[in-house]
Amino acid sequence: MDCIFCKIVNGEIPSYKIYEDDMIMAFLDINPYAPGHTLIIPKEHTLDITTINKETLNHLMDKARDIAKLVNEKLDAPGYTLIQNNGFVQEIKHFHLHIIPKYRKNYELDVKDVYEKITQ
Ligand code: 5GP
Ligand code: ZN
Repeated sequence: MDCIFCKIVNGEIPSYKIYEDDMIMAFLDINPYAPGHTLIIPKEHTLDITTINKETLNHLMDKARDIAKLVNEKLDAPGYTLIQNNGFVQEIKHFHLHIIPKYRKNYELDVKDVYEKITQ
């Protein structure tokens, strides 16, 4: 299937991966709204909130708490937002949850440097 996120799961497209298990994967967004912008996806292809199976969704949301805590602590972000797009506002047609750290002041950092901060 011609899906960018399936290719990321398969390693055909590189990514800054910060978490992986049997069901899900989390990696840094290539075009972040803010440093630490992370996407969490199911490894198995599925379109959106209407098609993801409950077991996978529950697991993904459970891990999202831990991943958000890790990302925000490593980057000293005082808050964060979770969003998930469906329908025409969804650019990539493979379910993904966004974790978007929020900073009180404007803060910019390259994705590569963010990755090093999170994984060190
Ligand atoms: P959506 O609008 O579908 O909820 O968001 C898709 C997100 O995927 C965007 O924030 C975009 O920057 C990100 N994205 C698109 N292509 C790639 C890619 O090849 N690698 C990574 N890491 N993120 C991507
Ligand atoms: Zn896919």
